[in-house]
Amino acid sequence: MTETRETVILGSGCAGLTAAIYTARAGLKPLVLEGHEPGGQLSITTMVENFPGWPEGIQGPDLIENMKKQAERFGATFEFAHLRSVDLGIRPIKLNTSTGEIHTRTLIVASGASARWLGLPSEQALIGHGVSSCATCDGSFFRDREIAVVGGGDSAMEEALFLVRFASKVTLLHRREQFRASKIMLERAMAHPKIELRTNTTVEEVLGVEEKDVKGLRVKDVKTGEESTLELSGLFLGIGHEPNTKMFAGAMDLDEDGYIKTTGNVLTTQNGQVIPGVFACGDVQDRRYRQAITAAGSGCMAALEVEKFLEEHGR
Ligand code: NAP
Repeated sequence: MTETRETVILGSGCAGLTAAIYTARAGLKPLVLEGHEPGGQLSITTMVENFPGWPEGIQGPDLIENMKKQAERFGATFEFAHLRSVDLGIRPIKLNTSTGEIHTRTLIVASGASARWLGLPSEQALIGHGVSSCATCDGSFFRDREIAVVGGGDSAMEEALFLVRFASKVTLLHRREQFRASKIMLERAMAHPKIELRTNTTVEEVLGVEEKDVKGLRVKDVKTGEESTLELSGLFLGIGHEPNTKMFAGAMDLDEDGYIKTTGNVLTTQNGQVIPGVFACGDVQDRRYRQAITAAGSGCMAALEVEKFLEEHGR
């Protein structure tokens, strides 16, 4: 007989780890499935300056590592596995994962969101050959080279500001005039001597597919329709994220972009009816705030709901 767990947490980012700390402290021995990106988005970011309690800031990977240790200290266990399919209609809930079948009374979905790509064939062909969505992972490969960052939000600003440590020049390409980035981040990017901002510009093609190495970009001025070539060695995407919810399509209510629709903060639904014992937290259900602290807060809420659910329905 497969053991039935009290709770399983999908995802090991800020939301999942906070849920793990709380459920572990409540004696529920949570199992955390680490997913495709262990540690989530914080693990590929640099300095986090706005997480309360760290007046000098803290490196994203350190913050995640601390949270993981904290959860382990109270009895959480971790497994490198990802969810293939799920049956939320039976009790206990059945999870089919890359390492086998798991049965659980409750489920916390904290599977986060993954980097978005432009979707150009040339971009896809050159991922890992000069095209990247992770400045902190790949930035150091571009020492003294010219590169571009696409996007107009905080992620793009953060990437550009990080990449100037290595690159000789960073051209930030944004598809329209107004930026989505916060004022402070935009001002920092604008003030940096190595960063050039080009608005109303789209990437039409990444050059270098035959050479298997980025040689430049064919870009278009969307106002004039004029195309031109930028010679450079790397392209970083900073155009946001997509929720990791494919495995829940049909099993729970998702919005038009695939984010999990929640009610009462973290309760999930199917056809508007609450799914008992299944909760969602963090970026997978939050398209508005998407901060480390809000993800952590909703992870705490999901954990408290799990405790309440198990109390009410018997452990
Ligand atoms: P975002 O705010 O959604 O911005 C995405 C940007 O990419 C937008 O400017 C968007 O253009 C552009 N974009 C989207 N799809 C595109 C496409 N196919 N082609 C070209 N451009 C495209 O996402 P984000 O920057 O990842 O930020 C997400 C959240 O995390 C925000 O709340 C942000 O404040 C937060 N964050 C904070 C920090 C920090 O404080 N240090 C760092 C990173 C992220 P349009 O504007 O035209 O839609």
